[in-house]
Amino acid sequence: MAGRRRVVFSSSKDLSPSDGATVFPRGNSLVSSLATGFSNVATALFATLFPEDCRLCGTPLTNISRLPVCCECLSSLSRIDGVLCSICGERLTVPYATSVEDGEAQCEMCRRAQPPYVQAAAYGSYESGLRELIHLLKYDRVRPAATVLGRMLAEAIGDLRVCFRSGPILMVPVPLHARKLRQRGFNQSELIARSALKILSAGSFQLNAHMLERQRETQSQIGLSRHQRRENMRGAFVVARSQEIVEREVLLVDDVMTTGTTVSECARVLRRAGACKVYVATVARTLKGETQNAKPQFEVEDALVMAAHG
Ligand SMILES: [Zn+2]
Ligand SMILES: [Zn+2]
Repeated sequence: MAGRRRVVFSSSKDLSPSDGATVFPRGNSLVSSLATGFSNVATALFATLFPEDCRLCGTPLTNISRLPVCCECLSSLSRIDGVLCSICGERLTVPYATSVEDGEAQCEMCRRAQPPYVQAAAYGSYESGLRELIHLLKYDRVRPAATVLGRMLAEAIGDLRVCFRSGPILMVPVPLHARKLRQRGFNQSELIARSALKILSAGSFQLNAHMLERQRETQSQIGLSRHQRRENMRGAFVVARSQEIVEREVLLVDDVMTTGTTVSECARVLRRAGACKVYVATVARTLKGETQNAKPQFEVEDALVMAAHG
């Protein structure tokens, strides 16, 4: 085993390592060898059915779980801390953070132009473990990841609920384009929303995954200016059932909020169709400080550009 602990299937929840004592009486070589055989088969079956290492940190897994991520990695996925913009949820830095009173702080962007949504809340920062967990669902199609991400989304929604006036809230996942949906086989935002609904009180929300449609595929937002991003998104979404949205409060849900252009465009379209208020909840969002920390090469590039321009 050499440092690797494997487990065998057990009817009890307390799983013991396969290199532990056999449950069959000693002395009976047939039973004993059958037991060893079963143990080997179970170990092999476990190794076949479940990846042997945590997909986030590479540590061998010791528990049977549909999600190939270790407990340490899961418990390290923490909430965003610090002072946040009361509208978009961006983390505020000095001097804005120091002038905050009663949680009504707003970032520079939101002060300049009010977003079409009331408030956006996210569970965590879109980096390291949480980013990998989202990629596990989206790109590696490890669907059980949606359960954990749904719990996080429910927590983010909990941050918003004080604002909700009347229920049930119409819960609308950001849609994928039909071609992408066929390619991936599922809309990750819808899966996460469904998991969140198992935790949230059922009567308070009404999921409608067909309210919004993505009628146009959009190019990657990377490298585009704020204005270009808005232009890129314009006309991408339509409200399919506008009669059901008039005077409703809508909760838009997505896996990630990066620049906010996608959720802003969805919120704009929903408002125009008659929604009285739109809230946004995502599992993760990019934070300015973290982006700079995560990509120091950008700073180097910026410095080079500045040097080139004298
Ligand atoms: Zn791990
Ligand atoms: Zn803001």
